Amino acid sequence: MSLLSQHMTAAVLYGKEHLRIETVDVPQVEPGDVLVRVRAALTCGTDVKVFRRGYHARMIQPPALFGHELAGDIVAVGSAVQDFKVGQRVVAANSAPCGECFFCKRNQENLCSDLLFNNGAYAEYIRIPARIVEKNMHQLPVHISYQDAALVEPLACVMRGLEETGVRPGDTVAVIGLGPIGMMFVRLAKSVYKARVIAIGRRQSQLDRAQRMGADELVLNDEGADIVGPVKALTSGQGADVVIEAVGLPEVWQLAIQLLRRGGVVNFFGGCPTGTEVGVDTNLLHYSELTLKASFHHTPVLIRKALEAVSRGYISAKDMVNRVEPLANLLEVMQHLMSHNGHLKTAIIP
Ligand SMILES: [Zn+2]
Ligand SMILES: [Zn+2]
Repeated sequence: MSLLSQHMTAAVLYGKEHLRIETVDVPQVEPGDVLVRVRAALTCGTDVKVFRRGYHARMIQPPALFGHELAGDIVAVGSAVQDFKVGQRVVAANSAPCGECFFCKRNQENLCSDLLFNNGAYAEYIRIPARIVEKNMHQLPVHISYQDAALVEPLACVMRGLEETGVRPGDTVAVIGLGPIGMMFVRLAKSVYKARVIAIGRRQSQLDRAQRMGADELVLNDEGADIVGPVKALTSGQGADVVIEAVGLPEVWQLAIQLLRRGGVVNFFGGCPTGTEVGVDTNLLHYSELTLKASFHHTPVLIRKALEAVSRGYISAKDMVNRVEPLANLLEVMQHLMSHNGHLKTAIIP
């Protein structure tokens, strides 16, 4: 630690739309922890939600260091760390499960009763706690850039969503919502799962992007536009085998159900505002044998698989990140991202 200055610049979240770039102490490293010099931190829809709302019940309670998608260099290791050393380039996930609870023992670590979250990526340095070091931190192959690597966390969530949904080759997969998460679904459904992809988004620019990511069919979800008709027309009147909701609004959840064929599966991937509800036509659910699923978060196995997918070039920052900004501009970046849903990511370079 002696080589490092004792202070650093970091974003501190104080509450609703209230964050400041401040000088704070460099985090202390306990025996199992490592300290990482952040080289790229990516904005995420969850961060924008947290910024708008001022907190997240499970992930972050202000005042707190902020940001969770990052990659960087190890600059200090605790006395008990054996698998990593100073100078390594790494990506660390934003959480790690306990490994001992009911859910962890059933391979549902994403639902762990004691999921440990870590924030503080929008800073010069971040402490990676021992549990994440052990379970969810990986050294980067030389050909992976910091920005590419920082995509591993959201990508792991998306890959888990696809695995849980059970997409088969040749399936028609409709993806509603074409922000970075929706784009990852489009790309992987097409290139890894060999599905036919219908991309549904609110802007022509998003549809163009989705096409470049491999979408076969494009449907513009304009104010008041009929979406069910076009999707049925593209599926011989039946509806899609699989629908992914990547928006997180009750009315879009409802739309997702209507796009399914009989026996189809919907994944409500986008989390809706707290307290909202969705009504379901019981006859439709029963007689059409619909499967309604939701996916939350990731597991250590999926973090490894996501790093592998990034390493093979399936997902890359050039498609997901469209701005690079210094940490000093974070407030302005967050305000911009709040203007509408579906922005691509900004890379913050602290
Ligand atoms: Zn995220
Ligand atoms: Zn657990």
